[in-house]
Amino acid sequence: MSTNVLSGKKLATLIRQKAQEQAQVLENSGRHPVLAVVVATDDESTLWYVRSIERAAERLGIGCRIIDLGPEATEGVLASVLQDLSAEPSVNGIILQTPLPAGVKADALIGLITPEKDIDGANPLSLGRLAVGQPAFAPATAQAVVELLEHFQVPIAGRNVAVVGRSAVVGKPLALLLLERDATVTVCHSKSGPLERYTQPADVVVVAAGRAGLLKGSHLSPETVVVDVGTNVLPDGSLVGDVDEASVTGVAAGLTPVPGGVGSVTTALLLLHTVEAAGQQEPAQLAAATSAART
Ligand code: NAP
Repeated sequence: MSTNVLSGKKLATLIRQKAQEQAQVLENSGRHPVLAVVVATDDESTLWYVRSIERAAERLGIGCRIIDLGPEATEGVLASVLQDLSAEPSVNGIILQTPLPAGVKADALIGLITPEKDIDGANPLSLGRLAVGQPAFAPATAQAVVELLEHFQVPIAGRNVAVVGRSAVVGKPLALLLLERDATVTVCHSKSGPLERYTQPADVVVVAAGRAGLLKGSHLSPETVVVDVGTNVLPDGSLVGDVDEASVTGVAAGLTPVPGGVGSVTTALLLLHTVEAAGQQEPAQLAAATSAART
């Protein structure tokens, strides 16, 4: 069978258009959506990624403030910056970019991002809200997987979906989003044993393990749809996913490419979430006036 390439580029364009239109509506009412990205690393690929978000935001009329604290930033400084941004009315979305300096605990910091501005669903409160079906921003990568499946009209309700990976940023929130859409979800991890036990009965397999070549054609039944979340840099500098493309091609009905699949949709969703957050928040001018009136 031929395997369809499920590119994320068209969907990412559609999401960016939606973000741009909504940003324009806000702009017309005097509100300018702003995303703040807190960075504390000198890792070149991370800095490149953050600059790419900034360029994409500016193209859509969304402000982007990069707060580069450098690789020596302490947990105290990071905490104080996140608290200030959470309280700052002119900032609508906040991302704490990983990696963080050695010894800095991300868990303590992500809880400081107020859920209303937590546009990448990092705060455990956001995950908790998702779990009980309350409004919250889902982690953009997990949401990107669901948006891709819906864009390509892959049935989810009543289907078996195997998710490989159980991290708080991808596997777990994705399982919640899929459950919400009536899928029967199996979440696998490094202690699950032979993957094929879970992936062969699945109609859809999502791999988010960060292991190049982990999912092979022999793990799948014919006509499975495969979403590859993994991003792995090989020694030659090339970027690959978690899927062994050569053996999966010809078995799967569809496969998302890396790059050009989940990643491009993820970035577009971060920007859409920022605009949505701005729409839900009290306008900066109004908040400033309200707080002045209260004092
Ligand atoms: P992570 O925190 O390292 O989690 C990896 C998960 O995979 C863990 O649950 C781990 O199991 C499981 N795993 C590892 N080896 C396995 C194996 N051999 N069999 C079954 N499960 C295995 O990684 P993450 O942050 O979720 O990210 C996963 C991948 O997605 C990475 O490649 C990352 O770069 C990529 N990613 C991409 C985007 C994007 O926008 N495209 C965004 C975020 C992440 P245990 O829990 O038992 O250790």
